[in-house]
Amino acid sequence: MTEEKKKASYDALVIGGGIAGGEAALNMANNGFTVLLIEKDLSIGGKMIHLSKVFPTLDCSACITTPKVSEISRHPLITIYTGSEVRNINRLSDTLFEADIIKHPRYVTEEDCTGCQLCEQACPVVVSDQYQFGFVGRKAAYIPFSIASPRVAAIDIENCTLCGACEKACPTKCIDFTQQSIEYLVRVKTVIIATGFNLFDPLKIPRFGYGRYKNVITAMEMERQLAPTRPFNTVLRPGDGKVPDRLAYVLCTGSRDVTIGNPICSQICCMYSIKQAQLLMGALPMADVTIYYINIRSFGKGFEEFYDQAKGMGVNFVKGKIGLISEKENGNLILRYEDVNANTVKEAEHDLVILATGVVSNPDNASFFTNNSLKLDPFSFICQTDMLASPARTSIEGVFVAGTASGPMDIPDSILSAGAASSEAMSYIISKQ
Ligand SMILES: Cc1cc2nc3c(=O)[nH]c(=O)nc-3n(C[C@H](O)[C@H](O)[C@H](O)COP(=O)(O)OP(=O)(O)OC[C@H]3O[C@@H](n4cnc5c(N)ncnc54)[C@H](O)[C@@H]3O)c2cc1C
Ligand code: SF4
Ligand code: SF4
Repeated sequence: MTEEKKKASYDALVIGGGIAGGEAALNMANNGFTVLLIEKDLSIGGKMIHLSKVFPTLDCSACITTPKVSEISRHPLITIYTGSEVRNINRLSDTLFEADIIKHPRYVTEEDCTGCQLCEQACPVVVSDQYQFGFVGRKAAYIPFSIASPRVAAIDIENCTLCGACEKACPTKCIDFTQQSIEYLVRVKTVIIATGFNLFDPLKIPRFGYGRYKNVITAMEMERQLAPTRPFNTVLRPGDGKVPDRLAYVLCTGSRDVTIGNPICSQICCMYSIKQAQLLMGALPMADVTIYYINIRSFGKGFEEFYDQAKGMGVNFVKGKIGLISEKENGNLILRYEDVNANTVKEAEHDLVILATGVVSNPDNASFFTNNSLKLDPFSFICQTDMLASPARTSIEGVFVAGTASGPMDIPDSILSAGAASSEAMSYIISKQ
């Protein structure tokens, strides 16, 4: 770690570079405010950049995200630190916050990397690719994913053997193993928290067999298999590489379930499962897709019609709660469920099970502020202190929330929320001048 903390000032600090944080930063910058955008991951874009298509229009997610992400990254008033975290934020006065930020080493000089991938080709170390949920491997010298922003290599130092092959192959000599963390002390007038959501950990429901049965996957894993930048050219079940033909969705995995401590509805799982079922009907025309649900919550604009469209395409909807999943010798899964309409317990066999895991809060939000208290709601999302009249406000004056950091929501609502947060932040700055 370097001794001296680098100092800088901006109008706004935006924490989280998903669609909500990116949109909030862009709104402010387009109105002449300077913004520092801090992203923990190696690329901005959040979860949206990894999705296949989006409900209810079935537009390609990457085609919507990449122009937006490129506008954000090229904006002269937005500074982006990826691979970075906010350690703490202190309020210095009524109109000033000071944030302690750490930028972790990437071991590549970002400005000089052309994204040519020669380092990747030269590197002999293969590890599991976290962005493809382990379906394929990647090298220890790697570009995070094809549409990453910045499209710059990084060295996975934990798995690197320091053989030097990447250094030799790099035409711009931008690999630098001496890089260290850099600490910044940044002064800002306002803060927008857009740290998004985490996905429910399905290992917390052992009776569904995730982690034990290879052919039980999550919907985010299926998103990758359906995306244009997918790991394989078709949908495969991980157990044996067979193309599945009897797929099952288990809705509300980790949502609306008091037994695992999360009674709330995740709002997006019904719709993303209906979306994936439609995409699967296209990708695997001979396959049967069954969705096991408690209730289908198709509450948004165009959602009910989207649900009807799936039924029209032949997706099978079964009102029933899954009690247990067990595995057969051939890797197929037996789902034991309560068929609510028939008022009886039944069993069904499927060859791939997709758990529609729910939305949970990001625990990072609890520790950003040192001399102010950021209030959380009962489910640990950021509390909207004036939810009806001013939904972007938090318990700290001058600190606003955008997107799913305040609770489950889809992409259009995250963008609306980012619009509200950036407008409130700009009004706040102007009112204090
Ligand atoms: C399987 C699946 C399918 C979906 N399909 C659709 C769909 O078809 N249509 C639709 O409308 N919605 C869909 N969604 C919902 C959509 O993903 C969310 O609405 C959207 O991603 C919310 O954006 P966000 O910016 O609030 O959060 P996120 O996408 O979670 O972004 C948050 C960002 O903040 C960063 N971050 C987190 N903590 C920190 C920290 N401490 N410091 C710095 N950075 C941090 C993260 O790395 C991330 O980049 C789907 C979700 C899932 C799980
Ligand atoms: S030094 Fe590390 S990253 Fe570079 S080629 Fe060797 S193993 Fe790969
Ligand atoms: S680090 Fe060098 S070799 Fe690797 S992508 Fe960047 S410029 Fe190319």
